[in-house]
Amino acid sequence: MPKVRQRNVTAAQWSPNGGVLGSVDLTEPFNYPFGELVFSPAVQRHRLPKDTYERLQATLAKGEALDPSLADSVALGMKEWALERGATHYTHVFQPLTGLTAEKHDSFFGPTSDGIALAEFSGSELIQGEPDASSFPTGGVRATFEARGYTAWDPTSPAFILENPNGALLCIPTAFASWTGEALDAKIPLLRSMDALSRSAIRALRLLGDETASRVFTTVGPEQEYFLIDEQYYFERPDLINTGRTLFGAKPPKGHELDDHYFGSIPERVLAFMMDSERELARLGVPVKTRHNEVAPAQYEIAPIFENSNVGSDHQQLTMQVMQRIARNYGLVCLLHEKPFAGVNGSGKHNNWSMGTDTGHNLLDPGATPEDNISFLFFCAAVIKAVDKHQGLLRASVVGIGQDHRLGANEAPPAIVSIFLGAELEKVFGAIVSGEGDPHTPASVLGLGTPVLPPLPMHGGDRNRTSPFAFTGNKFEFRALGSSQSLAFPNTVLNTIAAEAIDELSDQLQAKLSGSGDLHEAVTAVVKDAYGSSERIVFGGDNYSEDWHSEAESRGLKNLATTPDALPEVLADGSVSAFEKYEVLSRRELESRSEVWTEQYVIRANIEAETAASMARTMLLPAALRQVALEEAAGMDALASTTRALVGEFVDAITGLEAANVYPDDVEGLELAIHARDHQLTALERVRELGDALEKVVADDLWPLPKYAEILFIK
Ligand code: ADP
Ligand code: MG
Repeated sequence: MPKVRQRNVTAAQWSPNGGVLGSVDLTEPFNYPFGELVFSPAVQRHRLPKDTYERLQATLAKGEALDPSLADSVALGMKEWALERGATHYTHVFQPLTGLTAEKHDSFFGPTSDGIALAEFSGSELIQGEPDASSFPTGGVRATFEARGYTAWDPTSPAFILENPNGALLCIPTAFASWTGEALDAKIPLLRSMDALSRSAIRALRLLGDETASRVFTTVGPEQEYFLIDEQYYFERPDLINTGRTLFGAKPPKGHELDDHYFGSIPERVLAFMMDSERELARLGVPVKTRHNEVAPAQYEIAPIFENSNVGSDHQQLTMQVMQRIARNYGLVCLLHEKPFAGVNGSGKHNNWSMGTDTGHNLLDPGATPEDNISFLFFCAAVIKAVDKHQGLLRASVVGIGQDHRLGANEAPPAIVSIFLGAELEKVFGAIVSGEGDPHTPASVLGLGTPVLPPLPMHGGDRNRTSPFAFTGNKFEFRALGSSQSLAFPNTVLNTIAAEAIDELSDQLQAKLSGSGDLHEAVTAVVKDAYGSSERIVFGGDNYSEDWHSEAESRGLKNLATTPDALPEVLADGSVSAFEKYEVLSRRELESRSEVWTEQYVIRANIEAETAASMARTMLLPAALRQVALEEAAGMDALASTTRALVGEFVDAITGLEAANVYPDDVEGLELAIHARDHQLTALERVRELGDALEKVVADDLWPLPKYAEILFIK
């Protein structure tokens, strides 16, 4: 079969001016129609009866349950708005436990008896939908024979319109639950955790003297890394199509060693894709802010301005969808796999997280007054305590088969959870614990007469890029998320464990206040105790180093390298009790998640292993045999015998992989995941090793796969 991969990709083939693939019309003046596809509060004010609008906003602001009598009126306004924008269908969008986004489309139009169709959309259709839930994994919460699940409108995340060349679709963010009320999705626990954190934080704020805040929101701003490659290479690789990553491919002669890509200038086709995606996301109300090249060749990053956890998480799902869709208009494929190319830097997602009051106060901002400072120290100490106590659960919140190539494999960040505070803050906490002043830190922190922290630079030089959980001026940055991951569960965990720790600190504070009564002294004592007992989690050094691995072990920190190692943490006693105490997830709901995630790991491992076996046998082996024949025909006996030996090993490895692909009968659940990891994936690695060695000796025109050098460097 002749290879087509040498096709020369030129600007003219995609340039919107060249007229072929791009969808941005550059003859139109560039406008920035932020939110034009969103049924935002501003649109609602315009579209809904005054009374409906005001009652809806009031409900949302207080985080209270929605009055169902409002639904008909909202549905009418929403329908008219959507029809004017060309929508013919609506869908309840939800996030099943697979971490993906699901939607089922229903037409607005119903035929009437006199032969026409009328657009209808009632309040009950807005509020509740009934997708066939049987095709979504539920981890045993609901057997298929009782397949009913329902979606429920989430009025806190605005509805929006998705356009298509042939029509438009009204998308309504919803939660997905079983009829027995169990959460079958990622949104419900996230919303519950936001409520829990708000209650705990408000209680603490009252103790700290804040009488005005009435709700605390958790916020998230994700930095998303991704790869863009030419779609031609994608379609020539069954591994990319089936698994999202390359299962074969020798390291290219040029990697990121030259550091010429990071923050380098963005290639024109890529920039065109970015601008188009950003414009589309802006229309959908996603506040995209920054873009740049990442470390690896062909790797990039996009980051929005932060939003509340629920909206931020919904918007992140939308961002991934939009980028993947728009990429195709430019002849590109957007890869969100955590490790698409072995030996090349992988892709993660930095989860910037904080807590803020409805009065505009960021609880993790040190601030300029003594009052702000003691409040900051209190909340910051609570987070440190929470992360130390639940380090295993945090690690488990980012599991996934793609993640094992990053977290467990000496890449940034490591599987060991630790916190980077920065030298100044570490000094402040250290001084509180030791009770001694430091000449370089305003000693005032100690007496707490005027406990003003040195202003911590938001973007100071004091940064540590290897830390999985870093304080970055006014927020914590949880850096261990995978690039394809939903934000929902990691933030559910953060909110829940923070709520628990804040309450523990509040209990102590309350007890102390009823004694001595001095707030500053009481807070100092509470912070001292919390920090002192969690200090082992704080680490400012190089997280990649071998030394850290042994030091972390001696500190008693967990090092859960792979998904099967980390999964049991979801059901650890401490995890279950925190989730149950705050009514975020019941034991049954946790069990169902753990079961689904275990199953997903096994399914994906199996797809990878079977794809690799088939590629090795039907694509690579024939190429290698032709190479042997070529060398024999040319009378190159020595060469031929070396190649033949390599081919022999390759055949053995393929046979080994094929055997590993047959699962033993009596193994299931976590044990099966461990089996897949230790037998299937190791057999795959062996096949790959030999396949990659063959790539280096087989004639280039015989090799059936595009190579890394082409995929990564042709833009
Ligand atoms: P970095 O230096 O880590 O690359 P960026 O500026 O790219 O930083 O990203 C910082 C991210 O942190 C942005 O998405 C931003 O919106 C987010 N962020 C800023 N403040 C907060 C906050 N209070 N809560 C949550 N996220 C925040
Ligand atoms: Mg970052």
